[in-house]
Order: sequence, then C-alpha cells, then structure tokens
Amino acid sequence: MIYLWIVVAVVVLAAIATTALVLPRRRRGTLEPPRAGVDYRPGVGDDAEVPRDTPTRSVGTVAELPPVDELPPVDELPVVEAEPGPPAAPELETPEPTAGRMQRLRARLARSQNSLGRGLLGVLSRENLDDDAWEEIEETLLTADVGVAATTEIVDRLRTRTKVLGTRTPADLRALLAEELITAIQPDMDRTLHTTPSGDPSASRPGVVLVVGVNGTGKTTTCGKLARVLVADGRSVLLGAADTFRAAAADQLQTWGSRVGAETVRGPEGGDPASVAFDAVKRGSEQLVDTVLIDTAGRLHTKVGLMDELGKVKRVVEKQGPVDETLLVLDATTGQNGLAQARVFTEVVDVTGIVLTKLDGTARGGIVISVQRELGVPVKLVGLGEGADDLAPFDPTVFVDALLGD
Ligand code: GDP
Repeated sequence: MIYLWIVVAVVVLAAIATTALVLPRRRRGTLEPPRAGVDYRPGVGDDAEVPRDTPTRSVGTVAELPPVDELPPVDELPVVEAEPGPPAAPELETPEPTAGRMQRLRARLARSQNSLGRGLLGVLSRENLDDDAWEEIEETLLTADVGVAATTEIVDRLRTRTKVLGTRTPADLRALLAEELITAIQPDMDRTLHTTPSGDPSASRPGVVLVVGVNGTGKTTTCGKLARVLVADGRSVLLGAADTFRAAAADQLQTWGSRVGAETVRGPEGGDPASVAFDAVKRGSEQLVDTVLIDTAGRLHTKVGLMDELGKVKRVVEKQGPVDETLLVLDATTGQNGLAQARVFTEVVDVTGIVLTKLDGTARGGIVISVQRELGVPVKLVGLGEGADDLAPFDPTVFVDALLGD
C-alpha cells in the first residue's frame, strides 16, 4: 500500500513540475510587448524585420468608433470633396502637313504683294515704253526693296526682251516678268534645311539648328513654327532657350514646344546662353531626338558684345558636334535697315540660311532678292503670318507667281 502512495506522489510531483516549466514560456509568448521594428502580421516571422518608417495603414480600434445607433443617417454625412489630382497634360496639337500649307500661304502672299506685280505689269503693257516708263519700272522695283544692282539687271534684260517680243499680250508680259524675277531670285541656290547630322546621316547625335537675328524679328516664333514643321514631318524636336536675357522668351518657347510635345531646355534668367545651348544639345543626344533648335538672344548692344556672345554659343555647342544649320531671321518689313543688321550677324557666325519673316505685312517682297545677293545666303523659309503654321519652305516660282498675282 505504501508503495502505491509513493507512486501516486511521484506522478503528482511530475505533473506539477511539467506545468511549472510550460506555463511561463506560454505567458512570455503572449504577454511580451511587441518589439519595435518587427512586423507581427500573420505569416511574417520574426526574421522578416521591416524598417520602422514603413508606411502602414491605420484601421483604428473598435473603441474609437461611436455606437452604431449614434451614427448619423447616410444622407446627413458630410460630403468630402475629392482633392483635385495633378493637372491634365495639355492636349497635343497636330501641325498641318507642310505640303498642304503652300496654297493658303500663297493666297496670303498674293494679297499683300500684288501691288508690285500690278505696278510692273501696268507700265509694261503701255503702248509706248519710253524712258519715263522704264524709270517708273525701276522706281517700282527699288521701292519693293529689290536693291540697286538687281533692279538695274532686271530693267536692262526687260528692255532688251520687250523689244524682241513685238506684240506684247498681257500673258506674254507676265511670263517675261516672272522669268526675270525668278532668275533674280537665283532658283539654283540650295535651299535644303539641314536639320539632321550633316555629313554623317548615321551619326547618333541630333541635328543642331542655331537660330540668330535681331530681337523682334520673329526668332522665337520661328523656332516654335519650325518645331511644328519638323513634328509635322514626323521628327522629334528639343528646344533650347538660349535667349536668357528676355524673361518672356523662354516661356514663349516652352509654350510653343509643349503644344507639339517638344521639351524645352532653359536656364536661369540672365544666365549664360552658351551653357543653356550646351545643355540642350546634351539633353537632345541623351533623349535621341532628331533635331535640337536653339533660340539665341539678338541684342545689338555692341557688335563686339554680340560677337562674343554668339561666337561663344557656337563654340560651346560645337564641343559636342557641328552646328548643321545657322538660320538668320530677318524681318521683311525693315527693308534695307534690316539688311545692314543682318550683315553684322554674318560676320559673327557662318549663316547658312535666311528666314524672312512678316512677308504678309509688307508690299516689298523684293527683299528676297536683295538679301540673297547681299549676303550670298539663300532664303530657306518665309513667315507669312502670326498663325502657328504660317511658316513655309521658300519656293521661288510660287513666290513670284504670288508677287504677280493671278
Ligand atoms: P524675337 O524677339 O526675334 O524672338 O521675336 P518674336 O518671335 O517674339 O516675334 C516678334 C513678333 O513678331 C511677335 O508678335 C510675332 O507674332 C511676330 N511675327 C513673327 N513672325 C511673323 C510673321 O511671319 N508674320 C507676322 N505678321 N508676324 C510675325
């Protein structure tokens, strides 16, 4: 019997000892405060520590919620306005294809220019072409900014050819005059716009176009319009706002660019134009764009200042590759005055093409002839209005046709 009590006592003591060992361990597992920085979500073990600052969503506690019967009816709940999201990206415009522009521009050109054509044809169709008549023709050409040398040449040739012509029908005279004006515009000049890497079409750099000219001639506008021309032709474009002296110029350029999805690289106001130009070409190369268009400042404060500034822009850009086209923007309404200013630019940079703006605002289209003769550089583009797509590749035949009217 005594043995039975001894066995029972041993079993009871063993049971007590086991309970004493297990219970504290369980309690530790449940009562220990959560360790900082440890994710205690189900399935996430102690090893998977997440940083303290990992954003988590607070769901609140039951104690924080009011009793259900104290909640207001749904239609009395305050309406919380959704916060406005980021502004929608501006809708991109689709520029007109360049091929379709000429007709409309031609009509506009004809409206403003036909005084020259009408004047010349009116005198030429007179019965008697005496010295006074020829003087009148000369005067008309000079007034239209054709320039002295070209005017003399045109009049001499017309004199000879009208004598040979015999009977002069209006159609004959028009054809004769058109021929002479087209010859004076030098139709053989290469008017190709070099907007891709010249010399090496397979080069992995963008074509670089520098746009120079006196402020107010329409440089920035031309950059914007040209970006549209290129985009219309399926090219990618980046704009460089190197006119850092005019506060509005960079904004103006950026607006033009954003309309057709072209990025604009700009610098601080009054900053170094050359550094903006450099950054633009660098960015264009990184972004693999087809063409980088650089708008420059045209402050004619002093010739030396201009020379330093533009020369530096060109040199700095050329550290990354050649400039493929340097376009000089010239306001057609400024006539001989503008021509003198243009000459300064050709001494500073190697101008490869002229953009003649505001032809819609002058009756003196003869500037096309004189500017090419004076500078020896072809007119490649013409601006015919303030509309976004009022820039056209220059075509001598269409231009003269418009000059003479229908
Ligand atoms: P910038 O100082 O040379 O950059 O000149 P802007 O590009 O700011 O242009 C000066 C003004 O000329 C602006 O009002 C343009 O809209 C206007 N302009 C530019 N090109 C033409 C054009 O071909 N025809 C007309 N009528 N105005 C133009």
